[in-house]
Amino acid sequence: MTESAVWKAIDPSTGEVFAEIKGTPLDEVPNLYERAHQGFNSWSTLSLEARVSYLKKLRIHLNGHLDDVVDAIHKSTGKVPLEALTNEVLPVLNMIEYIEKNARKVLGIQPKPTPLILQGKSSHVEYVARGTVLVISPSNYPFHLAMVPVLNALVAGNTVILKTSEAVPYMGQYIEELFYEVGFPDDVLQAAHGDGDLGQALIAEQPDYIFFTGSDTTGRKIAEAAGSNLIPLTLELGGKDPMLVFADANIPRAVRGAAWGAFTNSGQVCMSVERLYVEASIYDRFLEQLVEFTESLVPGGDPDADLGAMTSMQEVKLVEELLLDALAKGARLVTGLPPEEWNFDNGRYLKPMILTDVTADMRIAKEEAFGPLLAVMAFDNERQAVQLANDSRFGLNASVWSSDLEKARRVASRLVCGGVLINDVILTVANPNLPFGGAKDSGIGRYQAEIGLRIFCHEKAVMVDQGRRQQEISWFPYIGKYPKFKQLCQALFGRYRNWPALLVAYLKLKQKR
Ligand code: NAD
Repeated sequence: MTESAVWKAIDPSTGEVFAEIKGTPLDEVPNLYERAHQGFNSWSTLSLEARVSYLKKLRIHLNGHLDDVVDAIHKSTGKVPLEALTNEVLPVLNMIEYIEKNARKVLGIQPKPTPLILQGKSSHVEYVARGTVLVISPSNYPFHLAMVPVLNALVAGNTVILKTSEAVPYMGQYIEELFYEVGFPDDVLQAAHGDGDLGQALIAEQPDYIFFTGSDTTGRKIAEAAGSNLIPLTLELGGKDPMLVFADANIPRAVRGAAWGAFTNSGQVCMSVERLYVEASIYDRFLEQLVEFTESLVPGGDPDADLGAMTSMQEVKLVEELLLDALAKGARLVTGLPPEEWNFDNGRYLKPMILTDVTADMRIAKEEAFGPLLAVMAFDNERQAVQLANDSRFGLNASVWSSDLEKARRVASRLVCGGVLINDVILTVANPNLPFGGAKDSGIGRYQAEIGLRIFCHEKAVMVDQGRRQQEISWFPYIGKYPKFKQLCQALFGRYRNWPALLVAYLKLKQKR
């Protein structure tokens, strides 16, 4: 795409163009960084309290304009207003509150113990802003997943360049205007509008940190580009999350949990339920209830509808490919429509789909299906359930459903992934006190909680000596020190600490100093 592109913001629920956003020219990228560096000089020297107070103003402003922000998200993505409110705006408000309460504790100076061998010194860790952070955000939660890293980076003292997804071009402009209305200083947050080419140009200009959320395919390109310049980064990538339902689970709850976990945001969720494994003894009963409940869900543009539209045609095409591949290899579509019956005349809506008879050779068994397409399979015992759940190159979230909490905890701790819920789905991400991120191909690093603030800082180790002694025992000259240091080691780290021997060795070393 050329840098002079104008990006049309299309409402997926109507097909109407509601805004046109001028793309950021590639030759403008150095200027963005120049402004970000200027902004950093003043923003990073504000007190932490002052920066937090801007976030507080933003929280109050957002809370007073809930319908506006929900409308902007709904028009951009096609998701239903309730999901825009509960899954995009509310987590941002929650995060701001977390930051207001915890930033001082998390980013303030952290005193640390100093070992005996370094006697007479004190140690602490300081958190220092990195500089300019590049946030590249995805199409599926374009407000939440842009705002959370932006706010954490800002409060730590960085300036931010935000590149939102070209699939939702209005969101970058909306967020930039929001910061302007709240009164943030100029150039503290700048939005850049464009696609992957702009993303690459922004990385080439060498930000001090990259926070990326998106597919693992793009994540690899970003890691490669960042790697050659040693730019540190966080990658929040895709998932193929398993849900394990044991026979002793609360079945009506697990049925509703599976439907919500698989079909909220029309399945365009990194940690949506994609592989549902049900214990064989309840499989038929469970599937019957799940199909019945799924068929009661209402897609469409009505404000009370359950399922919103697909945000981009690219995702629709991927769902179509995975579905056709599965059907050709013998899977059964037990509810939902086959692709030849899909009709987007009244918005990009897909009815939720459930597949059975899924086998390992099907793409749907391995690849992320970013849409309302769920594969349901059976397992025989706990061991097999764990093995099936872990049989994926992804490891984002997972869930375990059982009334035996001891068993559920045991299974949960054996799953290789970044987060697990017991008798619930997805919601670890809704708790700002919990770190979020993935294992395996689901990403590198974590955000939210303490780590979510600290990744945007250099962690600086500081050790202080009063500077009164002429020199240290470990400094030159070394002559005659080896046997004393050996005695010191033996006294310190044997089975028991030998205090008299330690004192003797130390005093002898002091004499040598
Ligand atoms: P995507 O990878 O297509 O795009 C994400 C962003 O990367 C967009 O802003 C895009 O313009 C940009 N981009 C594309 N190519 C680039 C390049 N070469 N260099 C720099 N930037 C580039 O993903 P998407 O379709 O927007 O989002 C869906 C994906 O994101 C799914 O795989 C989903 O699982 C994942 N996701 C992960 C999380 C998480 O927290 N782990 C959350 C939401 C979404």
